[in-house]
Amino acid sequence: MDNSIYLDHAATTPVRKEVIETFDEVLQSTFGNASSIHTCGQEAKRVLEESRQSVAALIGADHEELVFTGGGTESDNLAIRGTAYALRGRGGHIITTAIEHPAVLNCCGALEEEGFEVTYLPVDLDCRVHPEWVAEAIRPDTILVSVMLANNETGAMQPIREIGRIAGEAGVRFHTDAVQAVGKVPVNVNELGVDLLSMSGHKIYGPKGVGGLFVRKGTSLRPIVYGGHHERNLRPGTENVPGIAAFARALELAVGDLPSEREYLETLKEMLAGGILQRIGQVQRNGDTGDYLPNILNMSFTGVDGEALLLNLDLMGIAVSTGSACSSGATEPSHVLTAMGIEPVLAQASLRFSFGRDNTREQMERVLEVLPGIVERLRGVGDARAMR
Ligand code: PLP
Repeated sequence: MDNSIYLDHAATTPVRKEVIETFDEVLQSTFGNASSIHTCGQEAKRVLEESRQSVAALIGADHEELVFTGGGTESDNLAIRGTAYALRGRGGHIITTAIEHPAVLNCCGALEEEGFEVTYLPVDLDCRVHPEWVAEAIRPDTILVSVMLANNETGAMQPIREIGRIAGEAGVRFHTDAVQAVGKVPVNVNELGVDLLSMSGHKIYGPKGVGGLFVRKGTSLRPIVYGGHHERNLRPGTENVPGIAAFARALELAVGDLPSEREYLETLKEMLAGGILQRIGQVQRNGDTGDYLPNILNMSFTGVDGEALLLNLDLMGIAVSTGSACSSGATEPSHVLTAMGIEPVLAQASLRFSFGRDNTREQMERVLEVLPGIVERLRGVGDARAMR
């Protein structure tokens, strides 16, 4: 029996059995091109539009407001670059934050090279941007504000409703990257007051390479890829119908299970965090006040190299992360933790534990059994090196 412990659900999740069933069924029996007008094509079209109805309804949107994409990164790019190109005549200023995922940060960086100006707002010690900072940063030429709903390294939820109100009053488009939040906390586009919202399938026990972008009615966007007339002319290319149907099924299951799962994940998180703080000295929990996702825990272990810790845990069959998956392998300290004011050396001594529905209390106990010894040993190695 595989007794490995997977605590990296913010990087990606295993695919749920029911989701695989939906994927297999559509892949095998609904192979038509959703743009074909014969019966076989129309059957694919029906599955596509039912999936759209379902995903849209689960986030409080209309089916006409949902564009299926190739994942969270593409949704972020379509939202940001699509807005920038559509509104270029009105202004060239974009506001975002220093803690966004690279899908947003590097997209903004590319726009800067094209002449757009980007303001990167700071965050406080709790990994939170203050709405008044957004208000202060808005200028007459600001066309877009993009602030993530929940951070992927710390789980910190951002005050999106307040920021949405500020952006709305200023007549500025508002995008949120909700990739980590959807399926973990209730998400309703109208309550949040967003114009654009990004989602991804593989964070919610669905397939990789499929996601969605909510585009509020009347929000002008330019496509970033050119081709046929698919997805309201915003995302050309023959639709990945099995992937989309599986994404819709995954979201439906995630939203259905949300209340009980949220509480369970919170219990696991607090059990592990409490145990670590009790058994290991010189540990700090990064950003743990206010509104947080139930499934992400970030901790720094003074005097330990985070990557060495990760590799040692991996040898014991425990999978965790040192930051976002996209930046693993890089030696730079996390841009999120440093933006929170955490010293680079402590940022590099940090781990992200992210929990999922299949994790158990016994697994937390197992981690608490092995982690103190590994930390102690690595601290010893560090001390020995310092004495040389
Ligand atoms: N945005 C956030 C906050 C993420 O955590 C991720 C994935 O790690 C992405 C965007 C990118 O999503 P995808 O992997 O579907 O491209």
